[in-house]
Amino acid sequence: MAAAATAAVSSAKASGPSAPRNRNDTFNQKDKPAQVRLSNITAAKAVADAIRTSLGPRGMDKMIETGKKEVVISNDGATILKHMSVLHPAARMLVDLSAAQDVEAGDGTTSVVVLAGSLLVAAEKLLKKGVHPTQIAEGFQYAAIEAVKILEEISIPINLDDREFLLKSATTSLSSKVVSQYSSVLAPIVVDSVLRIVNPATDHNVDLNDIRIVKKIGGTIDDTELVPGLVLNQTAITSAGGPSRIEKAKIGLIQFQLSPPKPDMDNQVVVNDYRQMDRILKEERNYLLNLVKKVKKAGCNVLLIQKSILRDAVNSLSLHFLSKLKIMAIKEVERDEIEFLCKATGCKPIADIDSFTEDKLGYADLVEEVESNGSRIVQISGIKNAGKTASIIMRGANQYVLDEADRSIHDALCVIRCLVKKRALVVGGGAPEIEISQRLSELAKTQTGFQSICFQAFAEAVEVIPTTLAENSGLSPISIVTELRNRHANGEKSSGINVRKGTISDMLRENVVQPLLVSTSAIELSTETVRMLLKIDDILASR
Ligand code: ADP
Ligand code: MG
Repeated sequence: MAAAATAAVSSAKASGPSAPRNRNDTFNQKDKPAQVRLSNITAAKAVADAIRTSLGPRGMDKMIETGKKEVVISNDGATILKHMSVLHPAARMLVDLSAAQDVEAGDGTTSVVVLAGSLLVAAEKLLKKGVHPTQIAEGFQYAAIEAVKILEEISIPINLDDREFLLKSATTSLSSKVVSQYSSVLAPIVVDSVLRIVNPATDHNVDLNDIRIVKKIGGTIDDTELVPGLVLNQTAITSAGGPSRIEKAKIGLIQFQLSPPKPDMDNQVVVNDYRQMDRILKEERNYLLNLVKKVKKAGCNVLLIQKSILRDAVNSLSLHFLSKLKIMAIKEVERDEIEFLCKATGCKPIADIDSFTEDKLGYADLVEEVESNGSRIVQISGIKNAGKTASIIMRGANQYVLDEADRSIHDALCVIRCLVKKRALVVGGGAPEIEISQRLSELAKTQTGFQSICFQAFAEAVEVIPTTLAENSGLSPISIVTELRNRHANGEKSSGINVRKGTISDMLRENVVQPLLVSTSAIELSTETVRMLLKIDDILASR
């Protein structure tokens, strides 16, 4: 930072008015902030334009080839931008903006960038008119505050018992995805899994880590289901004849390995005596037998083993003992799964064999490996003392579909999470944006000076959402948006674009609703980014 500052000072000295190399330098230097601003705006706009066509149910999908030659097909703004290699620092701010919306609301990641792009165009026009960037930044900030107030005013409060509205919001979010034709299957799964883990009376947030999606190739998205109990990604080890079905299961989760310990460094032990060799083998056998016996003694009959990069989880000898003592073994449990598994099964992780006691086990009526749609999965059902978790098995024909379905379900889960956080809805289809636009225009008339101009510009900029929705559905944006303005002026607050029929209808009747939080956060975050971009007047490289 200090280096950058000195660089700026020295460059100012070199070409400042005190030491002009030629007369034009002074003017160039004055121009520079404006140039930097314009170039930032152009770069950021390019990013917004790139994903504009993805907005809405009739939006297009993007195929992305990653550096590793993997292919990603997606409609989700945050995903597309995350994979795009963006170099310009200002353009990268829009990528971060989309990521921020993803964290804050989870949905609306395309809208937020499109909105920012449009606000930048508006700002550019104002700059050309001679409004100072600081004034624009300030004006937009006030306009955004008013816009959020308007959104809150037109929002519809809901209750979490109101399953219908939750389903409708999830369906709206899914309707603009690649997997939209399956929304009638996925929406109830999404709503039920969130309702399973929240307590509507007390909770004001949802930890989506408590919902687990297990992806399996085979079947179609229709076969996706919310399972009672828990499913594991891993399968049981049956190579040594171990059981794959245990009734009245006592589940233990261990973080140590059932294989001979290895030294930290590479050592060699030379044994040249058969008796010594026998002793080593016997030692190993005793060591493993001892471990497995202690496991059995605690009453455990289903053993989950955390993955270790240093040692094998089991070897053939320990597997043999486990199978003799009828203990089901499941290895390759990832480190980040531990918390979820403990919550789901009511067990506690066990770090070493001496602390392997019965009170750390979880209980379930049945642990069973079943075959469905060509893949094997371990299902745990009838869990006692289970924490609030939900497991979804997702099916799809190939990895691309599965991955995109996963991202879409994530968005829909976030939509329901938004409704838990803030229990209000707005209608979709561009209706709230038109409403904001009209009321802000009204407000602009009551303001004076630059504030009034900024309000008006902001009002026009938010119309980008209905305009883009219309464009992407192959409708004429001008006639549709004009008609929408008319209807809203006549008090039809929920009139929006019916993208399926290509007309304007009441979005509430069409069941197109989305969480208030998605819309407010899109306005707030995009305005913040635009303000930040406007206030930059130089780009300096740091070492
Ligand atoms: P984002 O990544 O921003 O969520 P989407 O592609 O999901 O982008 O598009 C969201 C926009 O599409 C919202 O403005 C929403 O109101 C609108 N939309 C979603 N479903 C419909 C629908 N069935 N009819 C009209 N507009 C819709
Ligand atoms: Mg969406």
